[in-house]
Amino acid sequence: MWSPLTLLALALLSIVTSVRACPNGAGYPVGAGSIQSPNYPQNYDNGANCVYHISASQGSRVMITFTAFDTEACCDYLFLYDGPAITSPVITKVSGVKNGVSFQSSGQYMTLLFTSDPTVNRPGFSGQYSSVTGPTPSMGPSTTGTPSGTSGPGIPTPPTISSNSPDYNAYVLAAQQLTQSINVKADPCNDFWSYACGNYPASSPISFYQADSNNLVIQATQIMKPQYSQPQAPLPLRQTVWYFNTCVAAQNNFGPITQGGTIVIQALQAFQQITGLPFPMLNQNQNQQNWPSANTIGTALGYLSGVAGVDTLLSPYVDTNWADPRGSTPYFLYVDQNSLMYPKTYYQPGTWEQFQDGFINNIKATMTQLAGLTGKTLDPTTLANDVMDIVKIELALARNLSTDDTTRRQFQRSYNPTSVSSAQASYPFMDWTAYFRQLSTNAPGSVPAMMNNPSFTFSVMETTKTLQLGNSFQMGNPYGFTPRQFVNYLMYRLVDSNSGFLPSFRDRRLQKKLYSPPMGKTRYIILPEPIDPEKFENKDLTSAQMECTQETLNSLSYTNARFFVDALYPDKGVNIRQAAGGLISGILSGFQSMLDQLPWMDDASKLSAYGKITSLVKNIAFPDFILDDAQLTAYYANLNIQQTDSYVTMLNKLSVFNMATQFGYLARTSGSDRTDFNGAPGIVNAWYQPELNSITFPAGILQPPFYHPQFPASVNFGGLGVVAGHELTHGYDDQGVQWDGVGKLSHWLDPSSQQGFQRLANCVINEYNGFCPLPGNYTPNCIKGSQTQGENIADNGGIHASWRAYKTHVALNGPDPRLPDPVLSQFTHDQLFFLSFGRVWCANESPAQLFRQLLVDPHSPYKYRVFGTIQNFPAFQSAFHCPSGSNYAPGAGKHCNVWVLDN
Ligand SMILES: [Zn+2]
Repeated sequence: MWSPLTLLALALLSIVTSVRACPNGAGYPVGAGSIQSPNYPQNYDNGANCVYHISASQGSRVMITFTAFDTEACCDYLFLYDGPAITSPVITKVSGVKNGVSFQSSGQYMTLLFTSDPTVNRPGFSGQYSSVTGPTPSMGPSTTGTPSGTSGPGIPTPPTISSNSPDYNAYVLAAQQLTQSINVKADPCNDFWSYACGNYPASSPISFYQADSNNLVIQATQIMKPQYSQPQAPLPLRQTVWYFNTCVAAQNNFGPITQGGTIVIQALQAFQQITGLPFPMLNQNQNQQNWPSANTIGTALGYLSGVAGVDTLLSPYVDTNWADPRGSTPYFLYVDQNSLMYPKTYYQPGTWEQFQDGFINNIKATMTQLAGLTGKTLDPTTLANDVMDIVKIELALARNLSTDDTTRRQFQRSYNPTSVSSAQASYPFMDWTAYFRQLSTNAPGSVPAMMNNPSFTFSVMETTKTLQLGNSFQMGNPYGFTPRQFVNYLMYRLVDSNSGFLPSFRDRRLQKKLYSPPMGKTRYIILPEPIDPEKFENKDLTSAQMECTQETLNSLSYTNARFFVDALYPDKGVNIRQAAGGLISGILSGFQSMLDQLPWMDDASKLSAYGKITSLVKNIAFPDFILDDAQLTAYYANLNIQQTDSYVTMLNKLSVFNMATQFGYLARTSGSDRTDFNGAPGIVNAWYQPELNSITFPAGILQPPFYHPQFPASVNFGGLGVVAGHELTHGYDDQGVQWDGVGKLSHWLDPSSQQGFQRLANCVINEYNGFCPLPGNYTPNCIKGSQTQGENIADNGGIHASWRAYKTHVALNGPDPRLPDPVLSQFTHDQLFFLSFGRVWCANESPAQLFRQLLVDPHSPYKYRVFGTIQNFPAFQSAFHCPSGSNYAPGAGKHCNVWVLDN
């Protein structure tokens, strides 16, 4: 029991400590009084920002005079704002020693923000404030009116959230994650990126990868729980545990795996055995005089794709039957054009010059190492010539034997059903029967028999280029290619794809590329890239544990998801589906209201567009079957991993399993599965699949900082809501409009509406062409508007749709309380919507990363995903009171209206 005396002592103690606390949000009364920084004249060093609101009587102005002002010039700042909030225009920024200086507001209110560096000792400031009347002093940029939601100084409406609220902890989290990035010293109207992201830690990866790290920790912790190793646990879960443990052991002792380059050498031997081809680049005394037979070429290309998992001159994959996804042949095999060692854009003139030395040196180093491991010494001149021949073939494939991406945005031209026998007549350079025999090696059940039938029908996606390809690897070809060059090229591609298993390349952390299970080609909200384990923000797990969890995420996506869901959702996901589903439905309505108002879309097209919204499949969190032990076990029935298998054996079995899963779709006969996630539920990403007319929000992204069921609506709609709007808009971009509500190829936009859409797209292309993130010594140094148009249009449409949904939500449910933080409680929820949106894209990118992004990414660099969209969105100007002429209030005709009326 506490005695009264003790209670008194505690109370006194709390008074003493409160002297050191920051008087945040203090409303200084009307009239005159004194004001000082916390703890003055002692140092104030608790690191928190202090905010003061001062008001004068109506019709008067505030004047403040500092009798003593002694701060550290480098690091302590006092900002004075001309109005009732820190989002009002800045009067001045004061720092250093300035005694006796005065400042005045232009109206009734003034706000002060004091930020001090905890590492230096200075007293701060002390002074007086008073009301003055008379002519208004001239100020810098000013706004008219009172910011919405703020009725007076220090009295924000609605009130700050109460600590008794069940949502309080989520609000604290929302405030923390915004505090981590916001820099209120920047000017939101001219550089919102710096405002939203200026304090984003340099060591932090973009929010997607931050969340990935957090999710991997959750998954790993669950995988390591003993219950999943028990004999009664479902077999696929035990197999995942075995794989995880074996992987961790291997990652911690990789030497024996790469020793002698055995894996690479065995891969070469197997390929040579089945094709009978030599490798003159490695065995310089060998040669290849004649062009390999059509049978050998078919065997070689089929083996590389179907057994070794490396696509070369042709790239086969399974997708829905675009012309008839609901019929009795719902899935189809597509044979696409070549795949190269680098992304195709790297090989373009002007760009290639920046990569070729690295490319050439890498091939030389790889071959020299491989020769050493097999006891050979290579003649350097012959090797150099062989390397240049590989470069020559890659360049010809990229520049002459590939169709450009813009042309390829039209899907109908790539849907060319052909039987094996007619392909043989049209493209006789290769024996297609031999090709399919090898390609179907790992296909399950009845599929190999189907693929090996001469009447098997598939699509040759690039008919003209496939013809030209055949003419390029035979006598009298236009490039002067020789048989020797051709076989060296195929052999080297196999070496390259296994080079992560060469001893000296271990430090590059390459691993054999696993054949990933999703069918078709998924377009993500960001380009998924393997994360460097060093970048994982985690102290509790080893980098091997993190990396191996990542491997389960990639190649055992649905068991990984089971662990994740077991850990996240004790209610089996009922709540998250309901809450996130509600948000997503709101966004569909928001987007529909945008379509409604479009003047350039005719009524028939609008009906088709609504139809796509109505029949859209929404995949939220995870597919149901993973929680059903029997169904999960059935899905993985052909996964043959044993507890005693080596790491490499397990990798190979996973590769075979995932190939079999993909080819297995070809055996289905009763319509496409439109609820197919077609991606890992544990990843932090989202996607729209036009062939299924589905949007997917995996459990991985239904997490902070994007979403929390108890975040304020502004933060959720600015985060996940904008992502959802982005994905939905893809259904209506230049590619999306080629597909109908069930994912069938069908043009439903009438020609005049098509023109309206094209005007919109052209505006966006030109606008983004003007963004140049890199200096002129890079080629390219600007965003390519045409390459990124689909994603830019989705970003713009997405934020509009989410904003509408957010406004509707507030109208229905009333305003949320403010965030419990001295600075963040200053922001209106409209402002928080945009800050949450900006926070999603905060990142520190090196010039090399930016350059890579400009070359290969269909998305604009993160900073311009923020710039471009808010420049086109007048609601931003209103939320931040941007004066006209500032960057984000460019005025009519100087921005693009994307999916909305002129504004
Ligand atoms: Zn996208």
